[in-house]
Amino acid sequence: MIVDEEILIKAINKWGKHAQLLMVLEEMSELQKEILKHINRGKDNLDEIIDETADVEIMLEQLKYIFGIHKNVAERIPVKLDKVKARLDN
Ligand SMILES: [Mg+2]
Repeated sequence: MIVDEEILIKAINKWGKHAQLLMVLEEMSELQKEILKHINRGKDNLDEIIDETADVEIMLEQLKYIFGIHKNVAERIPVKLDKVKARLDN
């Protein structure tokens, strides 16, 4: 885990699962917006991209905690990477 688990639990307990799941979407949307600004307008916004990527990673950690799927996701990642590797090798 990249984030302090105690902070994640406190955030979920304080604001609730529903609000935190909406926050996952909000932070992903903010990252999408910065990527679009970078691509479409050639904006020099690396700092914003770093900021929003950090926000998304924190919220994805909360999402995994809310659904209790940390282990499942961790197990799925190498499977997905193998699929990418297979496509690269073709
Ligand atoms: Mg943000």
